[in-house]
Amino acid sequence: MDELRIWNTRVVDPGSATVLEHGTILVRGDRIAEIAEASGDPPDGALDVGGRTVLPGLIDAHTHLSSDTSRSPGFGPPRQLKGEDPRPRELGWFVLAKSCVAFLEAGITTVRDVGCYDDEGIVMRRAVELGLTPGPRIRTCGRIISATSPGGWQFGTMYHEADGPWEMRRAVRTQLRRGADFVKLMSTGARSVEREDPEPAQMTREEIAAIVDEAHRIGLRVAAHAEGLEGTRLAIEEGVDTVEHGLALHRAPELLALMAERGQVLVPTLTTFHDLAERFAHEWVPRLVDQAKRQLEEAYETLGAARDAGVAIAMGFDSGPPGANLWELVRIAEGGLGAMAALAAATSGAAAAVGIADAGRLREGALADLVVIDGDPVADPRILLRPRRIRLVLKDGRVVAGRDLDGPAIGGEVLADDELEAPTGPPSPCCGLSPRE
Ligand SMILES: [Zn+2]
Repeated sequence: MDELRIWNTRVVDPGSATVLEHGTILVRGDRIAEIAEASGDPPDGALDVGGRTVLPGLIDAHTHLSSDTSRSPGFGPPRQLKGEDPRPRELGWFVLAKSCVAFLEAGITTVRDVGCYDDEGIVMRRAVELGLTPGPRIRTCGRIISATSPGGWQFGTMYHEADGPWEMRRAVRTQLRRGADFVKLMSTGARSVEREDPEPAQMTREEIAAIVDEAHRIGLRVAAHAEGLEGTRLAIEEGVDTVEHGLALHRAPELLALMAERGQVLVPTLTTFHDLAERFAHEWVPRLVDQAKRQLEEAYETLGAARDAGVAIAMGFDSGPPGANLWELVRIAEGGLGAMAALAAATSGAAAAVGIADAGRLREGALADLVVIDGDPVADPRILLRPRRIRLVLKDGRVVAGRDLDGPAIGGEVLADDELEAPTGPPSPCCGLSPRE
């Protein structure tokens, strides 16, 4: 079995909030075989990483794999000029492949796709598994299960509309048949659809219960889109595994207590509220922008309340462009959790959300997904926004991205040249990508 010994590294495991100065990690096959103090001379063939920090591979628990770049300025192809040939639809696959590389270069080794058009996430998962493109480990929901709704009209092939408990069960079975790894349901309407009020529940309790029962019986986890409190309540009480957005939860401490007790994970997606309230406000129906401003405040209130209640929190960017995902980590850190807990949200917390117990940790026996970084992300998580600082990325024990390690380790000094700007590009499709014709 292939072995790689990483030498002279600072091992940061956010899931246990521990730091091992001057450590060594032995990777054997796709697993971490040993983590220990590095003492004496490095063994032959060891990779000396110059004292740099190593983190578990980062995980985005709420992304939308999409070839649609209409809202991703600077990431997709240049704007089409009049007189050019029409652009074939198939170019979209290259955009998706580029997205997969961009995730790896940002240190992201796993993504959970929570809804895409035309099964693009399922195809990309296969492409990565078959080695046709480098990319992160992908877990996808197939199509989002929704009641018949205005959102179903807007989002077209991203949704599977169904009504009544038995149609819901069939919708779950259909996603499994299609290739889904887990199920996502809309417990409330979406903030991005003018004719949906996200406050009331959009599904009945019986419908949500039928989805959860059907999915869990056949071994699939369930994610619930949840904005207003009533739908969020039904989703939590009926036993979904993750609550997406969940911004109203600060109003219901008893639900946060229940989540903490049952291990249900909150994915706060702060960035998507910044998108609708601020970054893309000029493109939106004014009522939705006003609503998003209120939701943005609530989302931060819920972040603090969830932390205090002991709820597991996972990082989910729900925005774009691909590779700028760690803005969400920075927002979680600066929104009150601090750097170590935000790093945990992007590693062990997100692994819990995705349902991969042996990812997101630096410990013996875990999957060998690792990121070597210049500088100390615990002291300043914003260094993760600097692509030049991501020096080596391993997924399943194999090098999948990174720059040369020969240069001197960059300390805490500011690099002026390459910090990613605040994300530009598509917000969540649940907040506004145009539907496919
Ligand atoms: Zn989303």
